[in-house]
Amino acid sequence: MSSVFHRASRANLPTAIRGDGCYIIDDTGKRYLDACGGAAVSCLGHSNEKVRAAMHAQLDQIAYAHTGFFTSEPTEALAALLVRHAPGAINHAYIVSSGSEAIEAAIKLARQYFLEKGEGQRHRIIARRQSYHGNTLGALAAGGNAWRRKQFDPLLIEASHIAPCYAYRGQEPGETAEAYGQRVADELQAEIDRLGAESVMAFIAEPVVGATLGAVPPVAGYFKRIREICDANGILLILDEVMCGMGRTGSLFACEQDGIAPDIVTIAKGLGAGYQPIGAMLCTSEIFDTIADGSGFFQHGHTYLGHPMATAAALAVVTQLTEGGLIPRVQQLGEALSARLETAFSDHAHVGDIRGRGLFRGLEIVADRDSKAPFNSARAINKKIKAAGMEAGLMCYPMGGTIDGQHGDHVLLAPPFIISEDQLDEVVEKLGRALDTALTQ
Ligand code: PMP
Repeated sequence: MSSVFHRASRANLPTAIRGDGCYIIDDTGKRYLDACGGAAVSCLGHSNEKVRAAMHAQLDQIAYAHTGFFTSEPTEALAALLVRHAPGAINHAYIVSSGSEAIEAAIKLARQYFLEKGEGQRHRIIARRQSYHGNTLGALAAGGNAWRRKQFDPLLIEASHIAPCYAYRGQEPGETAEAYGQRVADELQAEIDRLGAESVMAFIAEPVVGATLGAVPPVAGYFKRIREICDANGILLILDEVMCGMGRTGSLFACEQDGIAPDIVTIAKGLGAGYQPIGAMLCTSEIFDTIADGSGFFQHGHTYLGHPMATAAALAVVTQLTEGGLIPRVQQLGEALSARLETAFSDHAHVGDIRGRGLFRGLEIVADRDSKAPFNSARAINKKIKAAGMEAGLMCYPMGGTIDGQHGDHVLLAPPFIISEDQLDEVVEKLGRALDTALTQ
């Protein structure tokens, strides 16, 4: 089971007792090097003093005040800090408790924006195949992961899906990366034409695809073309940076490296760095003002919006990300990790692709490198890699289902930004052992 029912779980997981920098220690004293930040969450490791101090201080002041009655200092400061560093015309922050909530808010905001703008016929979402935007029903509907959607299909709102930008599998022989990027971006225009531009409200995509593909960056020019198509058709570009945002790829927002800015962007995991559950949806003044000057009320909300304990923790996280040299460190260590992965695995018979940006790296595991054929799902390679990693004291994030309609395995690495070069060696050495164990079982 990918999600665990506590108490009723049959997963036999170790019990996490303590965090120490990049390590989690279980109740037997065993240490696990966290090379994936859980799911790209723990960007500052597990014992960050500044975050802990900020949370203690906030708890001594006030833990909770409902946003229907009060705002709070850390919430306002966090919103201001995020907006100051956000790309393009992004100017407002709506602070929730998770990535899925941020996506739900983005979908509803897009709908309400068009309604108040007098374009109420716009309601359709276009996203990409093999994408994941969260497990709540709206976010699940936006996502294009067939396996996750299957059981809930009758419950999902209308959304259609175009190809992802996944050069390892999509780029044709003889086609340049740029031509490939334009070709798959142009699928968006074709889908808009098919649906009727006047009915489409938004395109949603993850700039660097995390869980479903395994740290797949777009090819150069892809998002520029996507941005042009959204503008030409009057539709909103929603970027899901829940996993790839907050410095993970070597810039605070991943899309900065693609030279574009969204109308709405969602962030979550690295925002709270695991110290508190928190997410945010950020939008432009154009969207905010249309609603503020219209009905004046975004018809949405949750009890724990802008929770002061969560925003105090996130403020301490984002302050460290934006004031210290951590993001340049992500770039430098990302290159170091990439070089080590190339050295260790570029000739490996079952590593088909090594990719990523910053401290967000992926390996695609294949049965045959020439044909790129995946392993049969019955081999459960990704589950075996995870188990062998844990046995060796390494947390990595292997997933299956990378290939449309078929199986496929990849390993996602997303270590804390404080990881040392020696610990990178430990990651690669233990990962090598885990791969060998899994592939010989
Ligand atoms: N979007 C992306 C890109 C994600 O990776 C995730 C979580 N894996 C989500 C949304 C949903 O976030 P959460 O699990 O916090 O609801």
